[in-house]
Amino acid sequence: MDCLFCKMVEREIEPDIVYEDEHVLAFNDIDPKAPTHILIVPKKHIATLNDIEEADLALIGRLQFTAAKLAKQQGFADNGYRVVMNCNEDGGQSVYHIHMHLMGGRHFTWPAG
Ligand code: AMP
Repeated sequence: MDCLFCKMVEREIEPDIVYEDEHVLAFNDIDPKAPTHILIVPKKHIATLNDIEEADLALIGRLQFTAAKLAKQQGFADNGYRVVMNCNEDGGQSVYHIHMHLMGGRHFTWPAG
């Protein structure tokens, strides 16, 4: 499958890994939008948020749980941080393998652009 994040999971491409377990891979974004910008990716290929099935619900919870765990490890959990998942073209998705952006280390404004 020609999927950038599947290639990272398979180590055909070597990401800058910050966390890995049986179900999830987390690595630094190549084009960070904050002092810390980590992508949290399920190892299972799911193209968009629209493709999540009931059987994936624990996996999606694990993405969020991992984001909070990494925010604590990175030291910005108490100050606050931003978690984003983009869906399809209007949502700004560019890699079609779902991923959670974890951004911290600065103040974020709302609404997002
Ligand atoms: P999205 O636009 O929500 O699909 O997010 C995709 C993210 O993947 C962007 O923030 C990109 O900077 C990031 N990205 C693209 N290629 C790489 C790469 N080779 N290593 C790490 N992050 C990447």
